Amino acid sequence: MHRIIESSDHGWWIVSHEQKLWLPGGELPLGNAGNFDLVGQSALRIGEWEGEPVWMIRQNRRQEMGTVRQVIEQDPGLFQLAGRGVQLAEFYRSHKFCGYCGHTMHPSKTEWAMLCDHCRERYYPQIAPCIIVAIRRDDKILLAQHTRHRNGIYTVLAGFVEVGETLEQAVAREVMEESGIKVKNLRYITSQPWPFPQSLMTAFMAEYDSGEIVIDPKELIDAGWYRYDDLPLLPPPGTVARRLIEDTVAQCRADYE
Ligand SMILES: [Zn+2]
Repeated sequence: MHRIIESSDHGWWIVSHEQKLWLPGGELPLGNAGNFDLVGQSALRIGEWEGEPVWMIRQNRRQEMGTVRQVIEQDPGLFQLAGRGVQLAEFYRSHKFCGYCGHTMHPSKTEWAMLCDHCRERYYPQIAPCIIVAIRRDDKILLAQHTRHRNGIYTVLAGFVEVGETLEQAVAREVMEESGIKVKNLRYITSQPWPFPQSLMTAFMAEYDSGEIVIDPKELIDAGWYRYDDLPLLPPPGTVARRLIEDTVAQCRADYE
């Protein structure tokens, strides 16, 4: 699957090093390999975007290395592929040795996997499922400021699914732990790969059932019920959180206007 890049190769270039990627001029580079000094590099073709192949190369360009978060502003679809590239780069970087026997591993030629030369164990990139949920109470939505990103943004609640737990149980547990609220009428909406570092967000809408807000100060700075036409600073477009908030606002509009 990995192959050496030639001067005639072209496409989108995800040049990744330690969870960062190369963003010359703030954007994901598109064009001929020769223009970007990438000829001779080992690359993995990881998809296609707007008719052009998307390549992943593990290399540190040292300058203009940014985060995949910046690509969401360039294009949400391209963001998904850039996230795939960065996650695969991290997968190959973190699986040089077998976790069972400690011997060296090599990349599979047929799939995104690493194979142990000694015990024949096969490793795949791990994906961590998360839930994210918009909670509606009449004409209001529950929004919170999270301790892990102190940027003034208010968003919906989210958390990792624990081992041996259903998505529905994860929603009920996370919402109760973080806010003290009980929810009902859970509905699945959509999903979004979220490469920070390797999540898959599964997005839901729910209705308030009972309880008063009691925040978990380890997770949240603040939380409250916000009327649909009077919202605080929201997450950027392209995020599944923003989609959930906008869907909830649209439902409130339909019911109250
Ligand atoms: Zn092994």
